[in-house]
Amino acid sequence: PSNMADLSVDDSKYLFLENDFHKSGVAQADWAAKKMVWVPSEREGFEPASIKEEKEEQVLVELSNGQKATVNKDDIQKMNPPKFSKVEDMAALTFLNEASVLHNLRERYFSSLIYTYSGLFCVVVNPYKMLPIYSEKIIEMYKGKKRHEVPPHIYSITDNAYRNMLQDREDQSILCTGESGAGKTENTKKVIQYLAVVASSHKGKKDVNPESVAAAVAKQQSGSLAYGELEKQLLQANPILEAFGNAKTIKNDNSSRFGKFIKLNFDVTGFLVGANIDTYLLEKSRCIRQGNTERAFHIFYYMVAGAKDKMREELLLEDFNSYRFLIAGHVEIPGQQDDELFDETLEAMEIMGFTDEERLGMLKVVSTVLQLGNIKFEKERNSEQATMPENTAAQKVCHLQGINVTDFTRAILTPRIKVGREVVQKAQTKQQADFAVEALAKAMYERLFRWILARVNKTLDKSKRQSSSFLGILDIAGFEIFEDNSFEQLCINYTNERLQQLFNHTMFILEQEEYKREGIEWNFIDFGLDLQPCIELIERPNNPPGILALLDEECWFPKATDQSFVDKLLNTHTGHVKFSKPKQHKDKLMFTVLHYAGKVDYNSANWLTKNMDPLNDNVTALLNNSSSNFIQDLWKDVDRVVGLDTITKMSESSVPSSTKSKKGMFRTVGQLYKESLGKLMTTLHNTQPNFVRCIIPNHEKRAGKMDAHLVLEQLRCNGVLEGIRICRQGFPNRIVFQEFRQS
Ligand code: ATP
Ligand code: MG
Repeated sequence: PSNMADLSVDDSKYLFLENDFHKSGVAQADWAAKKMVWVPSEREGFEPASIKEEKEEQVLVELSNGQKATVNKDDIQKMNPPKFSKVEDMAALTFLNEASVLHNLRERYFSSLIYTYSGLFCVVVNPYKMLPIYSEKIIEMYKGKKRHEVPPHIYSITDNAYRNMLQDREDQSILCTGESGAGKTENTKKVIQYLAVVASSHKGKKDVNPESVAAAVAKQQSGSLAYGELEKQLLQANPILEAFGNAKTIKNDNSSRFGKFIKLNFDVTGFLVGANIDTYLLEKSRCIRQGNTERAFHIFYYMVAGAKDKMREELLLEDFNSYRFLIAGHVEIPGQQDDELFDETLEAMEIMGFTDEERLGMLKVVSTVLQLGNIKFEKERNSEQATMPENTAAQKVCHLQGINVTDFTRAILTPRIKVGREVVQKAQTKQQADFAVEALAKAMYERLFRWILARVNKTLDKSKRQSSSFLGILDIAGFEIFEDNSFEQLCINYTNERLQQLFNHTMFILEQEEYKREGIEWNFIDFGLDLQPCIELIERPNNPPGILALLDEECWFPKATDQSFVDKLLNTHTGHVKFSKPKQHKDKLMFTVLHYAGKVDYNSANWLTKNMDPLNDNVTALLNNSSSNFIQDLWKDVDRVVGLDTITKMSESSVPSSTKSKKGMFRTVGQLYKESLGKLMTTLHNTQPNFVRCIIPNHEKRAGKMDAHLVLEQLRCNGVLEGIRICRQGFPNRIVFQEFRQS
């Protein structure tokens, strides 16, 4: 490639293949003579072997250590000729099988070549170390280059999507999926970084020398002259969202606890004119509870460690150890200074155009959430009634929220509840009061997050400028199959079913077009339809109602429990091809869905509550009338809240008669999510999608280590291997063409 001269030899080896032994004629002859194949291996997934003798069902092979073994013919996978070593697009392989895909990714990974294509996919393996492949020079190198003119890279995907958008006037999307820690967010940031350079240098900035554009990229935090205002703001959106929506988990020190879709709008000349961000499924329970060695959202630590003097007083901050919601106190992240990050977050908000009042308002909410955890209730001696023997924490909460402490205490301990046609004051038990306060903390934080998002969007939306098409980037968790799978996992797995369906469908359409062009007659199968039964099992509204609809039904049903929900599920769906009752589980709350990526046993404990997400409406009414405009704004739509009568129901499993009457007023969590996913899918269907599959190489966050089985499992779940299967059902036209070209 012409631009290669610009790169140092050192840097170019992270992108370009070196001409090595594998390509030589000697290697080729050796491979043919030895009849090399892949055989299953406990440790490596597959290992190379040479065929010594073939019997009917069995084959005698010699392994590389000289040992002989007998292997079933079906377990053997063909090995590609050595000329394909570290091939950039695996669709070119003569033999497309699991072993070859794994081998190719592994060889490339150990040569620090982390990006590889597989037909329509771009596969990227997390290197867990900084590679010099995101510099200004590299950006320059990828500008305007076709996919096969340059080594595989997220920049190439981005550039091609961008050019296609301009050329065909077709909206584009880049979909990053993968398990936690696989690199979705890092790659998403690279897409934005690339476009912030390319789409703003578009605007008559050709005279800007690439070095200074580059310097700007490197110093993206501080922002530089090379960027326009909008680009600068766009780059600051991420740190803000990450401060409030990311957290340290066992798997990832900077794990996104929400999904996002970032839409970048461009004008006809390709200049960035605005942006909009949607988010999905914030894990709000993290503000009140965290797993061992995990953290709540970053902002809690940034704020408590970093707020000083006057601000510290205004926020009524205390030490880490005095907050009950921060279970393990100040859990630190190696190499990260929480106090410095606080200043950076404040600065990012400033660039984003947040006022001082807004920033303080936001932080007051964060401080309130922590303070809510310190409110303690006790059981009254002669009754079940809850009391609050000490109200320091409550006073702080009320001071921060601009509400009256007596009203607040009453609203929590003895709220007014509708029972039938009457409204009565009903004393709460300790359990109910605890539940109400935790629900309040979570709701407060979620509303804050939504407010921030809306605020960021307000800044990024420059609708005065004419936008012509967009490029959207999706950063959302892949299939989750844990030991214990709950409602959250069902939502994310449902999302992935739909994304996989989009992929299969796209592949189908493309194949079909290609075959038509070439005049080949072929019966097409839309493999997207394969996923329809599972999707329907989850989302179907009626005849028969799917899982989400049945859950909604139960939520409104007097005397319903999580168990009655599962029973209904079993009654309705036993016999469905994608549904079953787990055999090994004695637990009656379990049911199994056969997802595309595998069987998942769901535990439906608390699903009714999770779906209703009830709140103490006496308290929300107070917040709605707060003396602070900021708080008022946060709670302006309180009529949508599922109220206290429901809390009573959830904690006592007895239902006040008024529950049903509320049905029309608000929506369940499942319904809302189904709707927002539906919108996302409609948007994506109208784009040309580009799939980026992020792979985590090991669970130790270590560079240079690849766990073969872990990688194979991900390739199975994320559709790369499935894509290959589909390809092979079709006519192998690409393979023939590639062979032809290379000879
Ligand atoms: P989650 O679902 O938990 O949000 P994720 O897929 O978004 O996970 P990232 O946060 O993008 O994962 O990546 C996890 C970590 O892996 C990063 O903090 C970084 O240390 C490392 N990493 C990922 N991709 C790269 C890359 N291309 N180069 C260097 N390091 C990387
Ligand atoms: Mg992430």
